[in-house]
Amino acid sequence: MIPGSFAYHRPKFLGEAVSLLADLGEEARVLAGGHSLIPMMKLRLATPEHLIDLAGIAGLKGIRAEGGDIVIGAMTTQHELAASDLLSAKVPILRETSLVIADPQVRYVGTLGGNVANGDPGNDMPAVMMCLGATYHAVGKGGERRIPAREFYQGAYFTALEPGEVLTAVRIPVPPDGHGHAYEKLKRKIGDYATAAAAVVLTLSSGKVATCSIGLTNVAETPLWAEDAAKLLLGSSLDAATVKQAVAAAEAITSPASDTRGPALYRTKMAGVMLARALATARQRAGG
Ligand SMILES: Cc1cc2nc3c(=O)[nH]c(=O)nc-3n(C[C@H](O)[C@H](O)[C@H](O)COP(=O)(O)OP(=O)(O)OC[C@H]3O[C@@H](n4cnc5c(N)ncnc54)[C@H](O)[C@@H]3O)c2cc1C
Repeated sequence: MIPGSFAYHRPKFLGEAVSLLADLGEEARVLAGGHSLIPMMKLRLATPEHLIDLAGIAGLKGIRAEGGDIVIGAMTTQHELAASDLLSAKVPILRETSLVIADPQVRYVGTLGGNVANGDPGNDMPAVMMCLGATYHAVGKGGERRIPAREFYQGAYFTALEPGEVLTAVRIPVPPDGHGHAYEKLKRKIGDYATAAAAVVLTLSSGKVATCSIGLTNVAETPLWAEDAAKLLLGSSLDAATVKQAVAAAEAITSPASDTRGPALYRTKMAGVMLARALATARQRAGG
C-alpha cells in the first residue's frame, strides 16, 4: 500500500506542463485529484517516475457559458459541479451525476477532467458526456485538439488522448429548455462504483419523444452510447411496449464482466432496469 518513489512537479502554466510531459516521456503522468491514480500507485498497478500536478494551473478551473455551450475546466472538482447554479439551471444531469459519485471526501478533490480522462468504465461522467454529446479539449506540443466524447473511449483505460496531451476542458452543448434528464445508478452502497447505470436526456413535443440520447455506465469495457435504443423511442409516447424494445436494444450492446457486483447477465438486466427508470424520470421532468 505504499507507492514507488517518484519526482513531483507542480507547473504554474499549461505550457510548462505540456513541456514537462514531452521531455519526461512515458515515465510521466498527470496528477489531478489523485483519487484514481494514487490508489493505483499504492497497489503498484501504476508506477510513474514523475507526477505532474495540474493543481497549480489556475486556467484549468471554472465553469462558464460560451455561446450555446457550457465549458468546464478539467480541474473543476465534482463538488464544484454539484454546487454550480449555472449547471443546475442549464445541464442539471451533471449535478445529479456528481452527487452519486463516491462520497463527499472524494468529490471535494476528484476532478471532472480526471474522471473523464481516466478511462475506467466504472467512472460515471463518461457515459453522461456521451449522452450529452460533449467534446473534450486536449492540448499537447502540437496545439489543441477537440475530441467528441463519443469517440474518446477505446478500451478499459485506453482513450483517444495521445501521450503528452493534457485534457484541458469539457465543452457541452446546452440541452433545450424544458428537456427531461435522469442518471439512474445501481450501487451496492454509498461510495460504490455502479453495478450498472443509465443516463437519459430527451425532449418531448406534443407528448411524443422529439430527441433522445442514452449513455450506459460500467456494463462494457468502455462507457456506451446506446444510439439504436434511443432511435427506437423517437416519435413514441414512451409507452410500455416501445420502452421494452428500447431496453432490449440497450441490453444487447452491453458486455459486462462477472465480478463482485454480480454475474454478467444480472448486470446487463440492471442496465435495462436503470434505463427504464431513467426514461420514466426524464419524461416526467420534461412535463410528459
Ligand atoms: C473510494 C472511492 C470511490 C469512488 N467512487 C467513484 C464513483 O462512484 N464514480 C466515479 O465516477 N468515480 C469514483 N471514484 C473515482 C473518483 O471520481 C476520481 O476522482 C476520478 O476517477 C479521477 O479524478 P481525479 O481528479 O482524482 O484524477 P486522478 O486520479 O488524478 O487521475 C486519474 C487518471 O487520469 C489522468 N488525468 C487526470 N487529469 C487529467 C487531465 N486533465 N489530462 C490528462 N490526463 C488526466 C491521470 O494521469 C490518471 O491517469 C472513486 C474514488 C474513490 C477513492
